[in-house]
Amino acid sequence: MAGKDKVKGNNSSAGIIKAGLIVLIVCIVLSVTMVLLQQSTYRKQVSSEFHQQHMSMGEYLNSLLVGYGQGIISVAWTMTDTDAETVLARIETTRELTALEHIYYIDRDGNLMIDGEPSDDGSTMMFEQLEELNYPKSNAYIGLAPSSVRLYVDCRIVIAAPVRTPDYGISGVVFSTIDVDSIFRSDAFAYQTQKGQCLVVSDTGEIIGGSSGHNIISTNDESFQLGLLGHSDGEGLSKRAVQDYNYGIAKKTAGFVNITTKDGYRMQVSYSPLNGCDKMFFVSCFQDNLVDERIKPLLISSVMTCSIITVLMIGSLTTVWAAAKRTNLTVERLAYEDPVTKGKNLNYFREFAINTMIANRETPFVIYRFDIANFRYINESYGHHRADLVLTSCIQNFEKLFSDRELCVRMDADQFLAILINDSLLDKKIDEFTNAVNADARGNQIKYPVRFKYGIYPIKKHDHDIDVMIDHANVAKKTIKSDSKETKALYTERFVDDMRKVDHIESSMQKALAENEFKVYLQTKWDIIDNKVTGAEALVRWVRPNGSVLGPEQFVPVFENNGFIEQLDFYTLESVCMRMREMMDEGIEVVPVSVNQSRLLLHSPDYVENVEKVLKQYNIPAGAIELEITESVFDNEKEDMIAIIRRLKLLGVRLSMDDFGTGYSSLNMLTEVPFDVIKIDGEYFARSAESEPERMVLGKIVDIIKDLGMEVVCEGVESEAQVEYLKTTGCRKVQGYYFSIPVPEPEFITRYLKKNE
Ligand code: C2E
Ligand code: MG
Ligand code: MG
Repeated sequence: MAGKDKVKGNNSSAGIIKAGLIVLIVCIVLSVTMVLLQQSTYRKQVSSEFHQQHMSMGEYLNSLLVGYGQGIISVAWTMTDTDAETVLARIETTRELTALEHIYYIDRDGNLMIDGEPSDDGSTMMFEQLEELNYPKSNAYIGLAPSSVRLYVDCRIVIAAPVRTPDYGISGVVFSTIDVDSIFRSDAFAYQTQKGQCLVVSDTGEIIGGSSGHNIISTNDESFQLGLLGHSDGEGLSKRAVQDYNYGIAKKTAGFVNITTKDGYRMQVSYSPLNGCDKMFFVSCFQDNLVDERIKPLLISSVMTCSIITVLMIGSLTTVWAAAKRTNLTVERLAYEDPVTKGKNLNYFREFAINTMIANRETPFVIYRFDIANFRYINESYGHHRADLVLTSCIQNFEKLFSDRELCVRMDADQFLAILINDSLLDKKIDEFTNAVNADARGNQIKYPVRFKYGIYPIKKHDHDIDVMIDHANVAKKTIKSDSKETKALYTERFVDDMRKVDHIESSMQKALAENEFKVYLQTKWDIIDNKVTGAEALVRWVRPNGSVLGPEQFVPVFENNGFIEQLDFYTLESVCMRMREMMDEGIEVVPVSVNQSRLLLHSPDYVENVEKVLKQYNIPAGAIELEITESVFDNEKEDMIAIIRRLKLLGVRLSMDDFGTGYSSLNMLTEVPFDVIKIDGEYFARSAESEPERMVLGKIVDIIKDLGMEVVCEGVESEAQVEYLKTTGCRKVQGYYFSIPVPEPEFITRYLKKNE
């Protein structure tokens, strides 16, 4: 298909998409930021919740241990000033109130009593170690057990209170051990131990006891910090967290740190000092994935919301993009499509031609500007619909016959424009094109042949303005006369000058008609036997306001091309009728006047009716008006024209064939068309008079015409010799400078017409 190349159009949807994408990216970034912010806020919330839980359990543990300490103190006090029985009773009560399994007493001599009963296992070393403990004033010592006690009871925490002598010396020590592990097994720590691991750790990192269940940090580890590091991913942040932990412990403050575990979870470690105890800390290690698990639902819902927003955004963006694309296509179609043929239009042609020439610099191109001769006739005779089919067929056949690098568009009406490759096949293709369009037309019952007139401009290397190239092709086309058999005209520089003249004529013709600048001149038709005027021919002159007179050869061809001749011919006919009526009314004897009628006028739809109207309006008698038409009027549509002539004759109008002898089918016309008069062309006559054989032919023609019952008028008679010769042929009516040149109407009247007596 010809000319399918895409013309680069402006893509306004790209702008929409760009803006949409930016909005989309901003939305996604905002969504991700929102999710991350929410995640971090919620993580902080969860962490602080856990830490609060840890702190309250720490306080509980502290108070529990302090309570145990009070119990031991009360036993120690009882032992200073009461009897053994009371002491025993106190021991019993204390054991019942606390979870302490046994209450020991050891004196300076190493005598050991367990729950008030003497035992053999004591030693002075045990006493000495216990004596050295750092006893606070108001409470028992609760802290790491000395080695002897540890050896004796497998336990790391000892609660001890001294039994004082009156001089504030120490006579013995009451003590007990605490199994932290069992405390953590109590229901009070259920929440904490379910969520992770509870530990009691010394300031040096020694793990004193811990809950079982989630063994995050092994109680056998050398130190809590090492255990923590071992559990972490070992990365910088986790190491930093362990350092923070150390710092908090050294400061004896409470706090929490987060480490990343080997499995990639974030684990929270809360710590707080057990204030009632010596250098001991309560530590909660929350289960590895606990924080993340708590955040997960929120995170999922946030991600889901953001995803839905993103999908909706993408959806609406796609819809907007599709709509924009559709709009673009429609706009492009409206901007580039010819509504009648559905082919491309002039806008498209301009861009296409430029792009094609640039892309194929070495290929010779040519511009064809063409139209259909007498398309108006097709339109009026066959209707708009079928005429449009002819136009569409032009575009379709062009696309079939020419390549992708060539394009043909309709500009308007029947005006076409094509850019073609100027090669040896071009003429053949143009012929094929004409034949194909005609075949289609016949298929659509259009009998009138479709003839094209092509103005051709071969594009030169340095041409760049496509409008100028189109204009040149148009100038060439305008040089083809409407009745000419020529179908092609090649642009030459001379045309520009001619075109200027044509432009000038065209721009002033309407005004000239309105201001009566077109004047009717009359030339006599002479009877050479009776030697008198028998008629006249109306010949138009354009008398410019400056007095200059233009002959019809200067403007008639232009008007025939642009259609203005219709108005002018009818104007002339009407002027002649009007003047004839004036003269008749003045009692002047008139002679028949012939008026030239152009081919276009005869084709106008109401022609016969209009002639009738004028004849009636001025009450013109039959035979007073003669209409002159040339034989080219009959080209291609003889039957229709003959019908029109018959109708005209019924109105009482005489019909004459002008310029007989100049065409090819003149003789045929004599028998086929019912003319009243045959006018032998002046030039033909002049040629014929020169040689004997030609004279003979002319004589025979005159005979035939007369035999057929028609009148003969010979034009262009310029000499007496010619008059004498004509007499011998039997042609008695002549027109020529010998008798009179065409003169203005008033002059004609005074010179040749006379008043009736
Ligand atoms: P035509 O109809 O054949 O008119 C005869 C032409 O021959 C006239 O030229 C006339 O002046 C010229 N002529 C007459 N006698 C002689 C002669 O002895 N020797 C020579 N050499 N020429 C002679 P004109 O007036 O210049 O008109 C030229 C043509 O223009 C006409 O040829 C006619 O075809 C056309 N024309 C003139 N007036 C009109 C008009 O009102 N309408 C139309 N459609 N055509 C017109
Ligand atoms: Mg004439
Ligand atoms: Mg003539």
